[in-house]
Amino acid sequence: GGGERTIERDAKSICPFCGVGCGVRPAKTGTSGKSARGRGWHAPVNRRGELCPKGVAAYEVVGHDERLTEPQVRRDEELVSVSWDEAFSRIETEFARIVDEHGPDALGFFSSSGCTNEEDYLLQKIARTLGTNNVDNCARLCHSSTVAAMASRFGAGAMTNTLSDLGDADCFLICGSNPAEQHPIIFSSYLAPAAKEGTTVIQIDPRTNRTSAIADHHLPVKPGYDIPLLNAMCAVIFEEGLEDEGFLRERVSEVTAFREFIADVDVSACAELAGIAEDDLREAARVYATVDRAAAFTGMGMSQHRYGTTNVHALLNLSLVTGNIGKRGAGVNPLRGKNNVQGASDVGCLPDVLPGYRSVTDEDARTAIGDVWGVEPPSKPGLTEVEMTHEFGDGIRGAFVFGENIAATEPNASRTARELDSLDCLVVQDIFPTRTVEHADVVLPASSWAEKEGTVTNTDRQVQRMRPVASPPGNARADLDVLRELGRRLMRPTGNEEATENEASEGTFDYDGAAAVFEELRRVTPQYAGMRYAEIGEGSQRWPLPEGASEGTGVLHRETFANGHRRVPLVPVELVEPDDEDELVLTTGRVIEHFNSGVVTRRSDVLTRLRSTDAMQIHPDDARKRGIEDGETVVVESEHGRVEASATVTPSIRSGVVFLTFHFAEPLVNRLTGDELDPESKIPTYKHVPVTVTKEVSG
Ligand code: SF4
Repeated sequence: GGGERTIERDAKSICPFCGVGCGVRPAKTGTSGKSARGRGWHAPVNRRGELCPKGVAAYEVVGHDERLTEPQVRRDEELVSVSWDEAFSRIETEFARIVDEHGPDALGFFSSSGCTNEEDYLLQKIARTLGTNNVDNCARLCHSSTVAAMASRFGAGAMTNTLSDLGDADCFLICGSNPAEQHPIIFSSYLAPAAKEGTTVIQIDPRTNRTSAIADHHLPVKPGYDIPLLNAMCAVIFEEGLEDEGFLRERVSEVTAFREFIADVDVSACAELAGIAEDDLREAARVYATVDRAAAFTGMGMSQHRYGTTNVHALLNLSLVTGNIGKRGAGVNPLRGKNNVQGASDVGCLPDVLPGYRSVTDEDARTAIGDVWGVEPPSKPGLTEVEMTHEFGDGIRGAFVFGENIAATEPNASRTARELDSLDCLVVQDIFPTRTVEHADVVLPASSWAEKEGTVTNTDRQVQRMRPVASPPGNARADLDVLRELGRRLMRPTGNEEATENEASEGTFDYDGAAAVFEELRRVTPQYAGMRYAEIGEGSQRWPLPEGASEGTGVLHRETFANGHRRVPLVPVELVEPDDEDELVLTTGRVIEHFNSGVVTRRSDVLTRLRSTDAMQIHPDDARKRGIEDGETVVVESEHGRVEASATVTPSIRSGVVFLTFHFAEPLVNRLTGDELDPESKIPTYKHVPVTVTKEVSG
């Protein structure tokens, strides 16, 4: 285990959990037992040192007794401890054999949106120097559809605005996002104070949750019916002449065609489909359109559908029609999940784009990167996360999973487990024995966030520095060192013709620490070009920051959009009917005390004391029909699997819908979710799963 080690109190770092990016440091010097607590410092985001409960508990990982501390390899079905050299050799041999026999595209790399930019950059560099673009990160599972829609429309898939300018907003439109629990410090330090000062809050969510505490208007949309709701809001705006004519004239194209499309939208019928009272829908549209500055937030309630990209297009239309782009206190703002989910994508852990979102098919971009790396990245786009798991044992024979728990987080968990076992070689680098580690052939004991030096990029595009408080426990090693060594070893002449031919490749993984990696990544990532590691200091640098610029850009798309165009089009968005739902629809989400698959937070004393189990929310009408009482155990079944859960009977959820979180090992919600993906972004459908719920019959 982690054991007691001295921790360094002065090391100011960044919280490892959500994308808010709060500054955190140890509360006291001393040993790192499970009693270690974090406290905030006056960092760029949590300016008064505020932290949510997860930030306070964050240092518990350092001394946790379940930490992985020895490299392991599978021998005769068992994982046994070995030296680092033996673990590395096993990876080298297996990966070289796979490349020899099946080509580099038989390897798949899962990067981590909870690790540093430098580590993520090295992992995608390893994949690409080996000759494959099969590298992705879990942004695929949360906001890939948001990014697909926003990047194709505006030229950038990130928050259009900054947290601090949102204080100027007159209205917040919060769609499928529950910041009070998912992004607590954004809620308590930015949104709630603005609401108190008079910002009107419209919440679109099938549940009443902690965010509802500040909502002036709550539209409890049926899961899957955001498109009719948002289209109908546009229709009301045109019907009542509330559109921003100046903005439409100056910055928007395809307006006439869109007006014609929207003229056919039947507001009453859409309201009924979405399960919303028509008057409430109309009132929300009026508020959003008539205030001076309206900021939209979009979360996984919008993105995690098989038409997630289309959902976001509908929201972008609404923002354009009302001129809410390119000014303070407005915009469309995806709130990102993990602490470096933005950065992992920025630095190229995506199968279709290189660092800086340049397409792998762009020859100039490949040449520019080849000049720096000594090896040119391949031009064939790779597979996305879920596509890779579908190919396990078939097209993909070897996988490297860096700090992700894909056995729990990918949809259709029973299938994923079978597929993990069908790989010739699964390497997992992690800090705890996760569900994914159980399937591994090689396990590399990793460094926790608190043992890392490097940068992370938060939800409003601020690059900040992490500082270690201790060294990794036992024989665990710093992740950056491990990736550096792995890169060096895999670049040895063992079958990668391109690499062996190239002299420059020899030293391509020799770096003197995180600063040196950052220096390289900023040279190949245009949005980061003007940043300097040393200058970030205890502040932040925000992208885009071109070379030579003195500071980054806060509000995007002011004069021109990020794609260089002065105008972008309105896009008619047709309703996609969700699947048959004559029983109930399951939707998933978070609670404030836990994070993602719960690998870290369920091991925290502080957080498990606050909440140790999941419970399925069900409306009293639906419970009554099934004879279910509050607190009883129920069986939830989909076509993919079944779980048992304790029922919470509550009017907080709309009738016809049930809710579970995705934080727990039992019930493992992804036993229920299915394989269907959004065709554009390949995001799975986590937010609309047809299920049946029955009372458990004992015996
Ligand atoms: Fe950490 Fe997010 Fe909580 Fe801030 S809001 S302390 S970044 S989990």
